[in-house]
Parts: sequence; C-alpha cells; structure tokens
Amino acid sequence: MQSRLDLVRQRFNEWLIDGLLITSPANRRWLSGFTGSAGMLLITHDKALLATDSRYWEQAAREAPDFQIHQIRSEPDAQLNFLKQGGVTRIGFEAKHVTVADHARLLGYDDYSFTALTATLEPFRAIKSAAELELIRKAAQITDDTVTQFPQFARPGVTERALAWMLEKTMREAGADRPGFDIIVASGPNSALPHHHPGDRPLEPGDSIVVDLGAEVNGYRSDLTRTFYLGDTVDDTFWNIYQIVHDAQLAAIEGIRAGVTGKHIDSLARDLITNAGHGEHFGHGTGHSLGLEIHESPSFGAKADNAVIGAGTVMTVEPGIYVPGYGGVRIEDLVLVTDEGSEYLSHAPQSPLISV
Ligand code: ZN
Ligand code: ZN
Repeated sequence: MQSRLDLVRQRFNEWLIDGLLITSPANRRWLSGFTGSAGMLLITHDKALLATDSRYWEQAAREAPDFQIHQIRSEPDAQLNFLKQGGVTRIGFEAKHVTVADHARLLGYDDYSFTALTATLEPFRAIKSAAELELIRKAAQITDDTVTQFPQFARPGVTERALAWMLEKTMREAGADRPGFDIIVASGPNSALPHHHPGDRPLEPGDSIVVDLGAEVNGYRSDLTRTFYLGDTVDDTFWNIYQIVHDAQLAAIEGIRAGVTGKHIDSLARDLITNAGHGEHFGHGTGHSLGLEIHESPSFGAKADNAVIGAGTVMTVEPGIYVPGYGGVRIEDLVLVTDEGSEYLSHAPQSPLISV
C-alpha cells in the first residue's frame, strides 16, 4: 500500500493539489485495503487518513494499517471535520464519484479550493500486481470449470432462471465469494439481447444460448461468455455467425500487445464483422478491463481514447453478433496483455454444440 501511496503523491504537482479525497469504493479499497461499504480517504504528502463510521472502526484499523483512522460520529459537518485533519487546503476530488449534493456542500467550505479530477487512481489500477493477478486467475479458473459443466445443465425444458442459479451455485461451491456480476443466460430469440436478464423461458432444441458469467474472489472478478447451440442438427445461420464471431475474436487477440490502443484492437474485430455483413449487429465495444470492478478502463472500443494499453493489463475480448428476432452469438475470453502479445487467462473450451 505504501508504494501505491507514493505513486499517487507523485501526481499532486501535476494536479495542482496538496491533498486527494477518495470516495469511490473501488479506489478506496485499492489504495487502503479497507473493504467496508462506507468511508473516505484523504491523502496528503505526509498523511494517509481514512474516515469511517462506528460499524467499521475496528475493521478499518485491521485492514488499512498504513492509514490513520478518523472516527465519524453523528455530527453535522463530518466531512469538514475530516478535511481539517489533513491540514491542507488545495484538494482534488473524484469528479465521477461525487453527487451534485456532495459537490454543493464541498463548494460551501470557504477555506478550501477543490479540483475535479476525472481520473485519479484508475490508470494505476489498470496494471495488475502479482497478487491481484493471482486472484483474477483463480476467479477465471472457477468460471472455466463452471461453464464447462453447462452442457450437462442445459436440457430442453430447463428455464434460463434455473440455469443461472445452477451456474451461481456451482461457482460458489468452487470457492467464489459471489458472482462477479448478474449472470446472463439468454436463450433462443432472447440471445439477440446482449444484456438479457434470465427469465422463465424454457430451453428448446434449436436454441442458441448465450451464457455470460464471472466469479468474484477476494474482490477481484473474472468475465467469460460462451454461446451454445442445443440440438443435433446445426442451423446454418448459427454456424455462419458463430464462425464470424470466433474469427473476429482471434483477429483481436492476435493484435494485442503492450503499446496498442483500444481503438485499434476494436477495429480488428469490428472490421471483420462489418466485412461479413453484420456491422449493424455488433453494437457494443470489443472488450474492457476488469479487477475490483467488472468494467474498468481501458477498453477496446471505437470511441476509446488514444492512450496505449500497458503490459500487466487484463482485458476481455468479446465480439458479438445479435440478429433481432433470430438470436445472437458472443464469445468472451480474458487475456493478460504482455510486451510480446497476450496470455489467455480463460481456458474453457469453445465447442458450442450440446446434443439433445
Ligand atoms: Zn461478460
Ligand atoms: Zn465483459
């Protein structure tokens, strides 16, 4: 944690601040180690302070030994009292994590000047440490082992909702703390909806089934999508779309190495899908980073900025084609960006066919 604090402090001159107020849960946890649901950090050149309420005083002291704990009691100006502990007046805050009401309150503190920062710890968080990678690898392995069992769960008549529960139960029994996000099981025409919520539709022979799931292990997440086909005779349309998505994913993965931009990697997958006549059926980005949050920066997308992606970043690669009224295919794997290329962190088989 001390080296993370040093990294952040090195940016203070550039940001024209003497203190940084952190209020978002993921940044708070990454910088301090504190896992509680409420609290804020104030970092100055020589202080690291963590304010939280009585539910967490003991936990915070245990989890964040590098921080001095400030006890919030039921007091009208708790935040102002906390800021006073820092002894500095030029303070940066997280523009994307402060409400309009909080901002108005900050502006009322006359003795302070506040600077809105659109990115604070996020660029540092993109490069994973060995300990973070170990947790992501474990989450990915639980996810692989779970999705590998899906063909046994997917019998005609079983509903999407029941399947989502079987997947969640399997992940938890394998050691996941919880799913990394709401599991998607989208069958038949529902598979044309990229973020379908599992419902009461029972599986039928001839369905394509998009299964998107991930595990959370000690705060860190994984993310994987497989698309299956339920039936003994494969529909030509499904097979055609599946091949295009598969080739698009490979094209993107082959282009990944440290130093590329997210826009470039997105174009590798998108151009292939567009040239195959399905450009309008691929509406989302090609991938995203993850870690303490399921969607982190950087991302692979047409609108991604020109920042280059660094070695040690974990990315999903998840092109998809969604044909309204018919169904969809998405294939998503997790890779670690390296100087030479990338390394697969997910290893689940990609064979889509489930015999009935
Ligand atoms: Zn996913
Ligand atoms: Zn994803």
